[in-house]
Amino acid sequence: VYIVRRRMHSTGKWGRVIEILKVLEEDCATPIGKLRQVADAMTVEMHAGLASEGGSKLKMLISFVDNLPSGHEKGFFYALDLGGTNFRVMRVLLGGKQDRVVKQEFEEVSIPPHLMTGGSDELFDFIAEALAKFIATEGEDFHLPEGRQRELGFTFSFPVKQTSLSSGTLIKWTKGFSIEDTVGQDVVGELIKAMERVGVDMNVTALVNDTVGTLAGGRYHNPDVVAAVILGTGTNAAYVERAHAIPKWHGLLPKSGEMVINMEWGNFRSSHLPLTEFDHSLDFESLNPGEQILEKIISGMYLGEILRRVLLKMAEEADFFGDTVPPKLRIPFIIRTPHMSAMHSDTSPDLKVVGSKLKDILDVPTTSLKMRKVVISLCNIIASRGARLSAAGIYGILKKLGRDATKEGETQKSAIAMDGGLFEHYTQFSECMESALKELLGDEASESVEVIHSNDGSGVGAALLAASHSQYLEEDSE
Ligand code: BGC
Ligand code: MG
Repeated sequence: VYIVRRRMHSTGKWGRVIEILKVLEEDCATPIGKLRQVADAMTVEMHAGLASEGGSKLKMLISFVDNLPSGHEKGFFYALDLGGTNFRVMRVLLGGKQDRVVKQEFEEVSIPPHLMTGGSDELFDFIAEALAKFIATEGEDFHLPEGRQRELGFTFSFPVKQTSLSSGTLIKWTKGFSIEDTVGQDVVGELIKAMERVGVDMNVTALVNDTVGTLAGGRYHNPDVVAAVILGTGTNAAYVERAHAIPKWHGLLPKSGEMVINMEWGNFRSSHLPLTEFDHSLDFESLNPGEQILEKIISGMYLGEILRRVLLKMAEEADFFGDTVPPKLRIPFIIRTPHMSAMHSDTSPDLKVVGSKLKDILDVPTTSLKMRKVVISLCNIIASRGARLSAAGIYGILKKLGRDATKEGETQKSAIAMDGGLFEHYTQFSECMESALKELLGDEASESVEVIHSNDGSGVGAALLAASHSQYLEEDSE
């Protein structure tokens, strides 16, 4: 960024480019003090959301998962994972403590965009049909004992008010989905009706958020896992709370004394969040204005779109791309976060990846090195803000759990299971997130906190939770 600063006093159109860049940089700034304020605001809201229903922007949803996988789970289970732009069907063969995941097969299908904003039945029929096709490919290895019904864990990555482990009503859609007639409905009921329509017979044993699935999948491999964070198309976190620290829970105290909470942190907002004019207009024009504010500055669905908005302003007000504004630059969401990540990681001296991406996406035939450097700076500003705020959120959870500092003589480890395309594929983002977390924790405490990648944990996690809540519970004894 400072390459650009030296030229700050230049005048004319280029001066205006630099001015827009500077203002963005200031508006997006996340100095450590601000991150601490955000983390503190997060813990305050966590308390408020746990205290009463509707007590906070953070819904702090009770997952009904009061027991995480032990490793002893056995049997053959299906899982469905609906969340971002793709959805997956899978089957898993669990072999117990020794053998673990013996076999796993999956199929990934991308969701036709018109189904994301159409009718509820159309979406659920599409899912049930994909499931039916997948069941048809079930091989000998996956043997279902005589007289048994197949069982399914359903990962549904939207805010759901659970009424039991295997039922819950949709609070609202996020991430580009907007299907009015599903809101307020039991999503398992919707799925079962669709399965009946297409002739699939399966018992839905567990309904889980992807964060909860990732937590379960993470814990299965690592007993230190206390929280899970998704940084993907959307963003969210779940963690293990002490049941007696949940005043709004009036049910029986679980034997474990614990309850997994789905925070729905994407909906967090606070006066401490660094918001820009671009965030305000993005939010205003979105499918869900006023909602998911943290998600809109962190997650993969939006980062590329923020970049597009800044470039559009530069094009309009400072002729960034020449006399005319590239028409494609006016198309919302045309710059996707994977494009941004590819440009951001361009290490060639002449930034040729940036040039070729701009050409491919926006039909801009040529760009100067100086322009390409500005684009890199923009990527850096936008991604760093998101990454550092994610770290602040994680730090907020660790504080809530009292795991943010090492106590005398204590060796307690805490692991955070992470997943999602942004975390997995946007290297600058995940590295920046991890270094901000270290900065927040300090040298000593960061020794005891580990960030792990729980690859595709959410699907396996749902299968594991289906297993431990199976109607034919079968576990190896040890
Ligand atoms: C949803 C969450 C989900 C997250 C990550 C958000 O938009 O509200 O339920 O966990 O995306 O997939
Ligand atoms: Mg993955």
